[in-house]
Amino acid sequence: MTDGSSLPPLREVINRHGLRAEKSLGQNFLLDLNLTGRIARCPGRLEGETVLEIGPGPGGLTRAILAQGAKQVFAIEKDTRCLAALAEVSEAFDNRLTVIEGDALKISEDELLPERAHIIANLPYNVATPLLIKWLKNRHQFKSMTLMFQKEVGDRITASPGSKAYGRLSIISQWLCTVSKQFDISPKAFTPPPKVVSTVVKLVPKSEPDFPADLKTLEKVVAAAFGQRRKMLRASLKSLGGSAEEALEAAGIKPTLRAEELSVEDFCRLSEIYRARQ
Ligand code: SAM
Repeated sequence: MTDGSSLPPLREVINRHGLRAEKSLGQNFLLDLNLTGRIARCPGRLEGETVLEIGPGPGGLTRAILAQGAKQVFAIEKDTRCLAALAEVSEAFDNRLTVIEGDALKISEDELLPERAHIIANLPYNVATPLLIKWLKNRHQFKSMTLMFQKEVGDRITASPGSKAYGRLSIISQWLCTVSKQFDISPKAFTPPPKVVSTVVKLVPKSEPDFPADLKTLEKVVAAAFGQRRKMLRASLKSLGGSAEEALEAAGIKPTLRAEELSVEDFCRLSEIYRARQ
């Protein structure tokens, strides 16, 4: 089995293929091999596993995933300038890498992936949240997701009730997945350096959520509650129609509480009351 050791250093690849970073594509390349290796180890053993990577760019993280022994890697890249460099990576790793040129937001993982896969990605920041929401909806296709976000988004995914970062993303992610922050990465580690610190978060989809709820109703209730997060729930939930006070009392929640004081379980209970009203 070839191990990629024949590949040139990433800086050389970037220069040779003229991969000047494009801001509009969220391109901040990670060239530090210790860090790419650390990210690729987050899901656990990859031998025999299928991996989906979004935005491989010049292929730094891709090399680390392949070096961890992944059986096959599907990588979706929008920037056609990267394709020649990625073809070299594929060849150096026994063609275990398949590159798909396209927009990750539009690609159907269901059609692409032959089996349940791990997602590993240093995400383009401008599409990171919509991609996460899409994957949460299709979570049964994924064994785990190891994703790099800007720290502010990573904090929102892992936030606990009572904190400023707690909101829609925390509740939906934590209802459907076991989430854990892995580590922060300084802007200095990237070429070019972004303005903000990045965070790697791991999400492992639950086979069944801990509390019953319907995703659409839960999203509506959470959006109404956090749409006016400083208001008491009896006021912020009025936009959902019907008596907010009655719904809250039926769910055993004090109507004078604010959105950030409710646990994921509270929100699920409340959304079930609203679902029964529909
Ligand atoms: N994985 C590389 C690394 O770690 O150095 C590059 C990461 S860079 C933050 C994001 C990558 O996503 C870029 O290569 C960019 O071209 C690609 N990209 C941006 N938008 C995309 C989209 N909608 N679909 C697929 N790839 C996208």
